[in-house]
Amino acid sequence: MNITFISAPAAGKGLISSMLNEKYGYPHVSIGDLLRGVDDNTVKKQLENGEFVDNRLIARLLKDRLSKSDCKDGFILDGFPRNISQISIYEDICEKANDKKNIIIVLEIPREVGEKRITGRRVCLNCGYVFNEYYDKPLIDGICDHCKHKLIQRSDDNIETYERRYDTYLKETKPVIDYFETKGKVYHVDSSESGKKTFSEIEKIIGGYND
Ligand SMILES: [Zn+2]
Repeated sequence: MNITFISAPAAGKGLISSMLNEKYGYPHVSIGDLLRGVDDNTVKKQLENGEFVDNRLIARLLKDRLSKSDCKDGFILDGFPRNISQISIYEDICEKANDKKNIIIVLEIPREVGEKRITGRRVCLNCGYVFNEYYDKPLIDGICDHCKHKLIQRSDDNIETYERRYDTYLKETKPVIDYFETKGKVYHVDSSESGKKTFSEIEKIIGGYND
């Protein structure tokens, strides 16, 4: 089965993708990771500035990646398609990458919850553990529970960046969801609670197929 995640920023699709990878073994194909692996200064600049990268490059990267043997029984695609100009790449390349069923899952999260997830995020640069000031506070304020190092707030974990990304999502990505909705292959899953709960909802959807 091929599972594509489309979702608002901070809905947790990275986490859910790794959980799915662990349980079902499908490789996690992130368009962001594929692009970051490209050795080209123009592309690096576009990524840094949050600009759109040439669709032909994206198409080529996806074609290469999805034709690898680990994708033949299915894959998890994350971060694509992001706008309506990419729908045809999805239909021509991703849907046809193997003979498996394709489903699209939209992770839903209210704007205010996403806001708190981002602005409350504190990370430990030493062990990589992530805390949240609203949902998952460390025992001692500002200190990592696991290794006792100081927690930091990443510079792009701020409200302005989040609002900008959310607005782009509404303007560019929402129409993609509307498009697939007319074709009847979209599942909406509430992702405002724990990753575990979201994951069990997704397991139910996958369990409904035998592909
Ligand atoms: Zn730590």
